[in-house]
Amino acid sequence: MVLEFEGVEKSFRDSEGLVPVLRGVSFGLKAGETLALTGESGSGKSTVLHIAAGLEAADAGAVRVSGQDMAQMDDAARAGLRRTDIALVFQQFNLIPSLTVADNITFQAALSGRVDKTHVDGLVEALGLGPQMRKYPEALSGGQQQRVAIARALAARPRLMLADEPTGNLDEATAEDVLAQMLKLVAQTGAALLMVTHSPAIAARMDREIHLSGGQLT
Ligand code: ADP
Ligand code: MG
Repeated sequence: MVLEFEGVEKSFRDSEGLVPVLRGVSFGLKAGETLALTGESGSGKSTVLHIAAGLEAADAGAVRVSGQDMAQMDDAARAGLRRTDIALVFQQFNLIPSLTVADNITFQAALSGRVDKTHVDGLVEALGLGPQMRKYPEALSGGQQQRVAIARALAARPRLMLADEPTGNLDEATAEDVLAQMLKLVAQTGAALLMVTHSPAIAARMDREIHLSGGQLT
């Protein structure tokens, strides 16, 4: 298993006290598998992704990435696992404005010493980003920015890609193109994908779907 959640619980504190968000969430994601995570706004989808990425800790239960229990690791080990095994793609692209497209794409892979030029060139080519490489993110359209984020995510050949409504900020036609390219490249690189989406049509294109409601999977 690339990712395993076992009885994961998570609460957040607000002005009224402790609010449970995840109440015993369990699922597994195998190598190369694609899984859609659906649920209403506020149901905890992003929280699942943040916990899977080790950005937030679960209150209870176990989270394993590539068989390694996140709670048993220290911060440095978790950060290392994040660099080598996990890639994130967000709705808001989250590119670094002061770096060119080329540097945005290789920045994270470089941190883990994993820049394989042939692989990166293949991603750039497949995503049609060649003409954009020397530009800065602000000069790009939303669709182009998200293609850069996808290239960045896959540059280090992650075992697990976590995507939070990656096409949510794009118009319908662009969203369709970007999604199709992303799914194809994820399949080519052999990464497992956990993707949050609002769209039943997008969820239907994944291998499986899990739905969050009332803090539990249905
Ligand atoms: P979704 O992505 O499904 O819209 P989220 O995971 O973002 O839902 O949030 C689920 C619930 O947890 C919401 O009520 C949200 O306000 C709350 N929440 C999420 N993150 C935090 C946080 N860091 N601090 C406090 N409350 C949070
Ligand atoms: Mg969210």
